[in-house]
Amino acid sequence: TSAQDIRDAAALLAAATDVTILGHVRPDADALGSALALGRALRQRGAKVRVSFGEPDEAPETLRWLDEDGLLTHPDDLPDTEALLVCVDTPTPKRLGRLAGRVELAGAVLVIDHHATNTFYGTCHVVDETAEASAVLVFRILDAMGIEPDEPIARGIYAGIVTDTSGFRRASPETHRMAARLLAAGADPEVIVRRIVDERPFTWLPMLSSVLREARLEPEAAQGRGFVHAVVPLEAARTVRGEEVESVIDVVRSVREAAVAAVLKQDPAQPDQWQISLRSIGIDVSAVAAEFGGGGHRQAAGCTIAGSADEVVAGLREALERAPLL
Ligand code: 5GP
Ligand code: MN
Ligand code: MN
Repeated sequence: TSAQDIRDAAALLAAATDVTILGHVRPDADALGSALALGRALRQRGAKVRVSFGEPDEAPETLRWLDEDGLLTHPDDLPDTEALLVCVDTPTPKRLGRLAGRVELAGAVLVIDHHATNTFYGTCHVVDETAEASAVLVFRILDAMGIEPDEPIARGIYAGIVTDTSGFRRASPETHRMAARLLAAGADPEVIVRRIVDERPFTWLPMLSSVLREARLEPEAAQGRGFVHAVVPLEAARTVRGEEVESVIDVVRSVREAAVAAVLKQDPAQPDQWQISLRSIGIDVSAVAAEFGGGGHRQAAGCTIAGSADEVVAGLREALERAPLL
C-alpha cells in the first residue's frame, strides 16, 4: 500500500458523516480492535458510526470491553444501505458472512486489510500484506488524519497488534514504535493481554484435557515433517465459550516435532462441518486452506470442511503434500 492510498483513505474518512465498519465473521481482536478504534476516532469527529459483523450475534466476551462507546450493532439493526462502508481485516466479501451483500449496495467501500489473499473488492484500498495487523494500518490512517489516539483508541489498536503478532514475536521496529506511542496514550498491556489472551474460566481445563488427550502427531505427514492435530467435538465445545475453543490451536501449535498444527472445531449450526484452524512453520497453510475455499496467512489460515473428523484429517494430509514450502 502506498502513502497515497493512506492519504486517500484518510480524506474519505475525514469527509464521512455516517459510517458502518464491518469485521470478518467470528471476529478476533484485530478485526474488532481495529473497527472499534477507527469507529471511536470517527465518532469523536462528529460522524454517526456503527460497528458490526456477520456472526455470531454477540461479540466475544473477551473483546466486548473494547467497545467504549456502544458502537457494536446487531446486523438486523443496520440501515438498509450506507454511503460509506469500511471493511477491516476481511480479505473477501464472503468473510463478511451474511453481511457480504452490503458491499454491492454501499456508495463507497474502503477496505483496510493485511491478508495476502485480499481480492481488492470495494472502491478504496489500504491493503498491505507486510503489515502485521490491520490495526497497524488503522494507526497509519489515523496519523494521516492528524488524530492522536486516546486510551480507548490505543487499547483497540494495541489489542489487534499484540494478538496478530503473537505477543510481538513478529513485529517490526516500526510496529514496536507504534506500540510505544499506544502505551504513552494510556493502553495498559498487562490488562489487555490478561483479558484477551491469558484469562480463562475453570471449565477450560477439563475441556482442554479431553481434547488434548486425543491429539495425534504424525511425524512425517507434512512433506516429511510433523503434522499434529486435535478435534474439538460439540460436547467439548458446549462446556466453554467460543474463546476457549479458539484457544486450543495456541496449545496444539506448541508441539516441537510438528511443522503444521490443525484443530478441527465442530460447527454448532452444521455438525457435519468442521471449522479448521491451521498454523505452520515452513509450509504455506494458506494454500491448504484455499483448497477448501478458505484462506488466511501463510503461517496461520483457516477453512471449513464437511465430513467425519477422520475424513477431514485425511483431506488435510493430502493437501499438505501439495502445499508450497516457505
Ligand atoms: P483462525 O484459525 O485464528 O480462525 O484463523 C487464522 C487465519 O485464517 C486468520 O487470518 C483468519 O482470518 C483466516 N481464516 C480463518 N478461517 C477462514 C476462512 O474460512 N476463510 C478465510 N478466507 N480465511 C480464514
Ligand atoms: Mn482476523
Ligand atoms: Mn488480522
